[in-house]
Amino acid sequence: MIYLDYNATTPVLPEVLEAMHPWFGERFGNAASATHSFGWAASEAVKMARETIAQCIEAEREELIFCSGATEAINLALQGLAMHSKPERRGLVYLATEHKAVVDTIKHLASFGFPITEIPVDANGVAEQKALEAAINQQTLVVCAMLVNNETGLIQPLEHIAEMARRNGAFLLCDASQAPGKTPVNVHQIGADLLVLSAHKCYGPKGMGALYLRRKNPRVQIAPMIFGGGHEKGLRSGTLNVPGIVGMAEALRLATENCSQWAQEIGRMRDELERQLQQIQGVHITALKAARVYNTSHFRVEGLRASSLIKALPGLALSTGSACSSAGGEPSHVCKALGMTDKQAFESLRISLGITLQAREFSTAIEQLCSAIRRESGV
Ligand code: PLP
Repeated sequence: MIYLDYNATTPVLPEVLEAMHPWFGERFGNAASATHSFGWAASEAVKMARETIAQCIEAEREELIFCSGATEAINLALQGLAMHSKPERRGLVYLATEHKAVVDTIKHLASFGFPITEIPVDANGVAEQKALEAAINQQTLVVCAMLVNNETGLIQPLEHIAEMARRNGAFLLCDASQAPGKTPVNVHQIGADLLVLSAHKCYGPKGMGALYLRRKNPRVQIAPMIFGGGHEKGLRSGTLNVPGIVGMAEALRLATENCSQWAQEIGRMRDELERQLQQIQGVHITALKAARVYNTSHFRVEGLRASSLIKALPGLALSTGSACSSAGGEPSHVCKALGMTDKQAFESLRISLGITLQAREFSTAIEQLCSAIRRESGV
């Protein structure tokens, strides 16, 4: 089986596993135990990991809250902001291509009376400027815009969105889950007030994420969702996952350090994949000319359902989009937002490459993919 679904999740790198290992066994202390050396060692490891992760995104370590992944970080950010909001500033604005973790949390908040506005995107997935200008105002609490789209790989131009949010006194919440190791993540350059990270998208452990909350200019204040021992400055109670935190830091450090090298190596494979795909009649690559991360290729084959193609390729691990929507049987909301019909959305397929993919496996995969497309679509 050849794995071509690295945007769904990635394997944990050996260096990451090695860094995590002692914190499961001989160094098993609780980072909140302040009375003995087991706790002190764990607490010190968490502090160092926090510093490493902060450095990767140009933040301060006090600005990070650890949690169980991007979904929780997004929920904490949005529900936390909403619970802390004033009656005159409750508007929630989000791009139509945001991950379901954002869309569904916002819809949940709408049921409590928070006004919401979905921003349409163009055929590449870039947010419509006019709609943003019309939507963001002095009543807007937060604007949600992801840095890298998990389905298409589009890198959203965020400067303008950040500037508009700031001008109106609204916060920018950036879901950067898919970015580390693929494109630089700098909270100041992005202009993010809140930013979401997930370890398992960049060769770290699953069930581990972090929320960045800007401390000044402006200071972001949220209410907690989980109560208990007062961990993470009272914003996310629960015993810290020390191995997970150490692993996340090592994964992010490696991803940040190796980003340009990985871009060259994997980008070369992705370009070759797209070169071959473009030679087949009826293949359309999404956002071909737009700024995209180097590992992702989203395309459709006219008249050929992606599910049939996946069935015809039992040796390849492929996906029709996000792991969540591929389970649901609904057309992807991202494809629909790009203006595709249901039929075109069901024809869409995502290939996402990663650093543990061997060159030989890749050649085999392209060969199998292209001949299956030709065979199944009859071209
Ligand atoms: N946001 C994006 C863009 C994602 O790709 C994912 C992954 O599915 C998530 C959020 C949710 O991440 P997690 O699995 O860490 O909850």
